[in-house]
Amino acid sequence: TIESCNADLTPVIFKSRGKDGLPVPENFRVEELMKSPELKEGQVLVRTLFLSVDPYMRCRMNDDTGADYLLPWRLGEVVDGGGVGVVEASKNQALSVGITVTSFSWPWQTYNVMDGSLLQEVDPEMVDGHLSHVLGAVGMPGLTALLGVREKGHVTPGSHQTMVISGAAGACGSIAGQIGRLDGCERVVGICGSEQKCQALVTELGFTAGINYKKGDISSALREHCPAGIDIYFDNVGGPISDAVISQMNPGGHVILCGQISQYNKDVPYPPPLSEDTQKALCHKNITRERFVVLNYIEKHAEGLVQLSRWVKTGQIKVLETVVNGIENMGEAFCSMMTGGNIGKQVVKITD
Ligand code: NDP
Repeated sequence: TIESCNADLTPVIFKSRGKDGLPVPENFRVEELMKSPELKEGQVLVRTLFLSVDPYMRCRMNDDTGADYLLPWRLGEVVDGGGVGVVEASKNQALSVGITVTSFSWPWQTYNVMDGSLLQEVDPEMVDGHLSHVLGAVGMPGLTALLGVREKGHVTPGSHQTMVISGAAGACGSIAGQIGRLDGCERVVGICGSEQKCQALVTELGFTAGINYKKGDISSALREHCPAGIDIYFDNVGGPISDAVISQMNPGGHVILCGQISQYNKDVPYPPPLSEDTQKALCHKNITRERFVVLNYIEKHAEGLVQLSRWVKTGQIKVLETVVNGIENMGEAFCSMMTGGNIGKQVVKITD
């Protein structure tokens, strides 16, 4: 086993806030190698296998994240987020050397000395050995899709519902659409940002159709692919895409307010205000639009992960992933994900 005080850390430091506008890789800086400190009682040395980059991190770049459950990243300090890795040395009775662990506050470093209380053990069997899935389909994004659909979607099998998903080729959207199909929607239509993504939705994930919002008119494409109107809308993006979808929703429909990524680079509160027309449409057609936050359903996470694991293992849910290599590419990977460079879950592979 490795000496706990001899591992190379290679931290990624938060260098500058984005404020308004697109984040850039230069907001992050990779520090010179540092050696890990000696373990204290209760701590473990973990080697990082995969790190996650997620849209909520854009809010953590701001002084004020706009959400009480999100702390801003601090300038000059090591960035943190979702991660998965292996315990390499331990002074914690509950976490033995060799086990796989995950955390929502995993520092962006190749190795970390962490308090055991910040870590959860992972059973690699749950993800058939694909440990990156702990950050995606069988992790927080998968739970967001599952619990979002189940808690706010009101899918009723046999009632010929049409579900539309925006951000459909991303981590949450790609799983949400497949769950809509499994739970009994008649049509599942995804909106995303390229032809290649649209094709993957239909041929690999079993969506009814894909609409490329960067090409042509979304409204006419929606009319074509949702001839009976839209009953359920899993909203990851907000803005004009959502205005177009909501305007074609049926009375009594349900919007799952998952995220509003099209507005995250603007200095507006969450959820950002709706256009007047959209507000009227929701009201007149009695459409629910409740905010969904996956962290509010912690008591349902364990069971949800078992369900997601089973679906992935049996092939009922297909997992798409974009993997970038190397801790030095964290900033690049984050910015790429924010502008649609990913298909499926964006992760960064840190060590083998
Ligand atoms: P994704 O994997 O979907 O990556 C983000 C995607 O957003 C990009 O790939 C890009 O795809 C799309 N995008 C970026 N900018 C725009 C834009 N201006 N208009 C339309 N699409 C855009 O990320 P996640 O699956 O992790 O997250 C998806 C959403 O879910 C986010 O809004 C996030 O905040 C939210 N979320 C909410 C949670 C909750 O508890 N409520 C938990 C986790 C995530 P494209 O090529 O299609 O443009």
